Amino acid sequence: SPDITLELQIIPFASKQRLLICRDVSAIEKTEVMRRDFIANVSHELRTPLTVIGGFLETISDMQGEISPDIQPYFDMMQAQTTRMRRIIEDLLTLSRLENNVTLKDETEIDMKAMLQQLHRDAQALSQGQHQVTLHMEANVNLTGSYNELMSAMSNLTTNAVRYTPPQGKIDIYWQMRGEDVVFSVQDNGIGIEAHHLPRLTERFYRVDSGRSRDTGGTGLGLSIVKHILHHHQASLQVESEPGLGSCFRIVFPAQRILPA
Ligand code: ADP
Repeated sequence: SPDITLELQIIPFASKQRLLICRDVSAIEKTEVMRRDFIANVSHELRTPLTVIGGFLETISDMQGEISPDIQPYFDMMQAQTTRMRRIIEDLLTLSRLENNVTLKDETEIDMKAMLQQLHRDAQALSQGQHQVTLHMEANVNLTGSYNELMSAMSNLTTNAVRYTPPQGKIDIYWQMRGEDVVFSVQDNGIGIEAHHLPRLTERFYRVDSGRSRDTGGTGLGLSIVKHILHHHQASLQVESEPGLGSCFRIVFPAQRILPA
C-alpha cells in the first residue's frame, strides 16, 4: 500500500547468518510530513506581516531627525530584531524546500574557478578587511550540481569562519584533490568548538554558545541547510576543531560529481 513505509535493516548474525529487521515506520513518516508542512506554512504566513512591519520601520527611519533620542535605541532594536526574524523565516523556508526536494532539480556543470573567486570576494566583503582571507585553488576540476545550492552551502561555511574568528584572524579557503575525491575546505584560526558539540552541529537551531551566536547574526539553521544540500550532492561534511585554535570545515565531493575543467 502507498500509505505504508517500511524500513529494512540487515544485521550480520553468527558466522554466515543475517538477521533481517523490518519496521513499519508509517506513523513516524506521517508525523514528519506534518511537521514539515506545519513549519513551511507558519513560516510562509509570518512572512507577510513581517514585511509590512519592516516596511514601516524603513519609512520611519527615512524621516530623519524626527525620532527623539530617547526612542532611537528602542527603534534600532526593533529594526535589528525584524531583520533577525526575517533571516530565520527565510532559512526555515529554505530548509523545508530542501527537505521536500530529495533530488536535484537544477543540475549544471559549475565553473568552480569562477564560483570560488566569487565566494572569496564575498567573504572578504563580509570581513570588511578585518581578516586575512586567502583562496588556494589547487584542483583544476569542475562539479556537476546545483549552482545555487552549492554556493549557499559553501558560503555558509565561509560566513561562519568570518563570524567566529576574531579580527586579525586568518581564513583559508582550499579547493584540492584527495585521491579520487575533491575537497572544499574552510580553515580558520578562530574561537574553535569543543569536541562534544561536533556531532550535533548540523541539528536545527543547535548552537555552541547561543548568546554569542545570536550576536553574530546567525539563525542556528546554517549547518542544517548545508547538511541537506550535501545530501542532494552525495557529498559529506567533516569538521575538525580545537577550542581557542580554530576550526576546519570540509566538504568532500565524490568522483561521480567531478568533471575536468
Ligand atoms: P549559526 O547561524 O548560529 O552560525 P550554524 O548552523 O551555521 O548556525 O552553526 C551552528 C553553530 O556551530 C554556531 O552557532 C557556532 O556555535 C558553531 N560554529 C559554526 N561554524 C563555526 C566556526 N567556524 N568556528 C566556531 N564555531 C562555529
